[in-house]
Amino acid sequence: MRPSLSTWWILAAWILFVGSYAGVSLLLRPGPGLTTYGDLAQCVVPLFANAGLLLNAGSSNWRRNSFWMLMALGCTLWMVAQLLWTYFEIYLHQPVPNPFTGDFIFFLHTVPMIAALALEPHKRQPEPGLRFGYLDFSLLSLWWVYLYLFVVIPWRYVLANVALYGQNYNLLNIAENMVLLTGLGAYWLRTSGRWRVIYANLFGAACCYTTSSLAINVGIDRRVYYTGSSYDIALVASFVWFGTAGILAYRLCRAEEGESVKPSEETPAVAENRQNDGVWAARLAMAAVLSLPLLAAWSVFASEEPTAVRQFRLQVTLGAMVPLTSLVFLRLHLVDRDRLRLLRASQESIENLQRLQTQFVQAEKLASLGQLAAGAAHEINNPLTAILGYSDLLIDDGSLGEKPRTIATKIRDQARRTKTLVTNLLSFARQVPPERKPLDVNAVVSSAIQLRQLALRGRKITIELRTEPVLPGVRGDSNQLLQVFFNIISNAVDAMEEIGGGVLNVRTLRERANVVIEFSDTGPGIKEPHLVFDPFYTTKPVGKGTGLGLSICYGLVQEHGGQITCFNRPEGGATFRIQFPAVLLLFPPRDAASAKEGIAADSMAPSSSMEPS
Ligand code: ADP
Repeated sequence: MRPSLSTWWILAAWILFVGSYAGVSLLLRPGPGLTTYGDLAQCVVPLFANAGLLLNAGSSNWRRNSFWMLMALGCTLWMVAQLLWTYFEIYLHQPVPNPFTGDFIFFLHTVPMIAALALEPHKRQPEPGLRFGYLDFSLLSLWWVYLYLFVVIPWRYVLANVALYGQNYNLLNIAENMVLLTGLGAYWLRTSGRWRVIYANLFGAACCYTTSSLAINVGIDRRVYYTGSSYDIALVASFVWFGTAGILAYRLCRAEEGESVKPSEETPAVAENRQNDGVWAARLAMAAVLSLPLLAAWSVFASEEPTAVRQFRLQVTLGAMVPLTSLVFLRLHLVDRDRLRLLRASQESIENLQRLQTQFVQAEKLASLGQLAAGAAHEINNPLTAILGYSDLLIDDGSLGEKPRTIATKIRDQARRTKTLVTNLLSFARQVPPERKPLDVNAVVSSAIQLRQLALRGRKITIELRTEPVLPGVRGDSNQLLQVFFNIISNAVDAMEEIGGGVLNVRTLRERANVVIEFSDTGPGIKEPHLVFDPFYTTKPVGKGTGLGLSICYGLVQEHGGQITCFNRPEGGATFRIQFPAVLLLFPPRDAASAKEGIAADSMAPSSSMEPS
């Protein structure tokens, strides 16, 4: 296998930076030349590390970008301290003072790296809240600053003691580096695949840095260290390693992005991870705040330091408590707000679930009604056919007088009407797969009205139907359209009932290449017209409304290639308007008898007398 371009870059970086540095460091004797070379090289290697790490900060994943940016920020901070060191040695031509002002920056540079680990970039999970990210980072940084002020600073500003300063600085520095190493090591062992390789490299680089930094600090305290000495070889190597880890990660993650990666979904495992995220950060925050009084108590009651140091430590602790606890409270407040939002969302879901349950119960009832009607229809149809046959015989019997024949005609009309009603009921309740055939909208609308009218007796509600005499056909499923019209009529009836009654005008018309059906009621109007088609939107009490009727109608009309809209009329009342694309078939006007009785759903197919338009 041929090595890739990035492998050559990695090799070149190691040879150029580490190889040449080691060569110069071992060949040149201590002096201004070696110092200048050492300082400049140590300013350049963090820059290289920065470039390598930042290569990965341009992905589409905020979590990963932040991880690499924080790692790079760590290197940048180190470089700032090194520039200060270089200023003393090259510009001022002075040995760097001990204690050195830049020590604080050298110490602080690990904090963004530790914060980066908290982002867990190897996990495929939703982005953490940006606000929490900033808050946690501020909390962590403040805590480490506090520790520095507590442990190291007294030996510089309260009781100047270089030996104790160095000793305490080294201790805290090791503790800080150990936290970073433990985090990187844990991730290295727990992850697999590409991230395992990346963490292993970052762990190696951090290990190399920790050892070299400890060696250099001890060397400085023993006055055997000088810039460009062999102490620095491992230091330079550590930064080159950080940079090459970035290059390696870029190559590995680009290969991963090339593969088809499913976008992260909120699976239960991911949701659990997210919850753990919050718990973990909250626990750390609590531990940080709790450590303050503990450290203060240790300083006052248990430590044997001089009183001035103990007093200083107490003051520092009291001072740090204010911003740290404020941050913790702010975090708690934000978490509370987030939880409230989630609680509201889950309450809404429960309500929706209850509505859905009611809808299921209703659907179940409707299905049993359908079964019942199917059984009853068979029984009712037989006597009805007999009634129709006998009444026909009576009408055709010339020996009878005018009066009995008129009565027989009335019996036949009523029997026909009953037959239509039974057929309509059946077609509404039965579960049939949707079909698409040309159908007469006028017939479907009148069937829906007839059905709804059954339950209107004794109420002050009237339904008036005005149909276009010759209407083009519509391709669709008569059963589904019947349900759409029935639902809209029912809603209008419900609305008018609220104000004690009213009139519903149903109109069918032809508009260019469309068939339009308009339902205009004289009810109170729609409260929020822009919401009525949303699932679960209802203004009716639980148990009466489910908020699903119109959203189902919307879906059905869309499936038929149509459009459904609604608006409140200026003079009052609501109008629902449905339009369907017309098909090239004309339905003739129905005769007076069939118009009055309504047309059975079975007879909705175009009749043989239809002409093409
Ligand atoms: P539901 O009837 O179960 O409430 P729908 O989706 O059928 O569900 O209707 C949603 C809401 O639309 C109703 O609760 C009602 O507020 C409103 N609505 C529908 N039709 C009318 C109408 N003709 N007049 C006034 N409001 C209406």
